[in-house]
Amino acid sequence: MSAPRVLAVVNQKGGVGKTTTAINFGAALGAFEQKVLLVDCDPQANATRGMGVSQDPPVLYEALLGECGLAEVIRPSGFPGVDMVPSSRQLVGVEVEFVGTEGWERRLADLLVGVDDYDVVLLDCPPSLGHLTLCGLAASSSVLIPLQCEYFALEGMSELFATIRRVHRSLNATLEIEGIVLTMFDERTRLAREVMDEVRAHFPDHLYETAIPRNVRLAEAPSYGKSVLQYDIRSRGAQAYLNLAREFLDRHEIAAEGETDREAV
Ligand code: ATP
Ligand code: MG
Repeated sequence: MSAPRVLAVVNQKGGVGKTTTAINFGAALGAFEQKVLLVDCDPQANATRGMGVSQDPPVLYEALLGECGLAEVIRPSGFPGVDMVPSSRQLVGVEVEFVGTEGWERRLADLLVGVDDYDVVLLDCPPSLGHLTLCGLAASSSVLIPLQCEYFALEGMSELFATIRRVHRSLNATLEIEGIVLTMFDERTRLAREVMDEVRAHFPDHLYETAIPRNVRLAEAPSYGKSVLQYDIRSRGAQAYLNLAREFLDRHEIAAEGETDREAV
């Protein structure tokens, strides 16, 4: 296999659906026969816990500090086709440990060199534009931005795009915008439609057609360590993430195998 496409799931706003998207978009890509590695880059470790994976060391923290390679911290998840690199609370410490360290921005990128058993690597980033997110952007082919349909949804976007431009200039000249995904979308509200129109006006080339609806199944699934596909394949949340995966594969002209094999998830 060639080098995987690495997607950083980024928005410095908290609670907009980054982790829900990383987990379920990852699971949906797995359902389409893609080999996926999900790297939990957030000290909150919500993706790790939501996928029911152990946080026992060594995890991403030890790998970032050079105590072990990435291969030693990759674990299978209970999701077909999806492996994961878990996070742990200790990851908070890297902000301090990196102070005065040469080249810390490239630590994650370096760890991913030679990891070519995957089609897609998803980086679930924390809600900040700090060290861990910068490491994620430096390591990525593109940035996937979940955007919650709420008041001030676009607040912070100019800062995020400025950061992406800065990383593009100084660290990662091939970094692209993958797209913006609207989350917790409720088509019945005028606000949601206004946010969609505004995003379309500002970022005409970047908005994914698929919007993720607000759906309680998406909030429930992680407490069972399951993806929404495993928890309730017929839910609107599950169908939306399958559609998002299909749209992603179409955009990149990747043949979507396994589409008719939904029962297998
Ligand atoms: P953080 O910034 O803290 O990492 P986040 O951006 O990763 O947060 P999530 O953890 O994915 O956001 O989602 C925040 C909360 O909203 C969670 O409780 C999650 O279950 C819920 N949630 C996310 N997306 C949806 C949705 N489409 N429908 C219903 N609930 C959702
Ligand atoms: Mg999160």
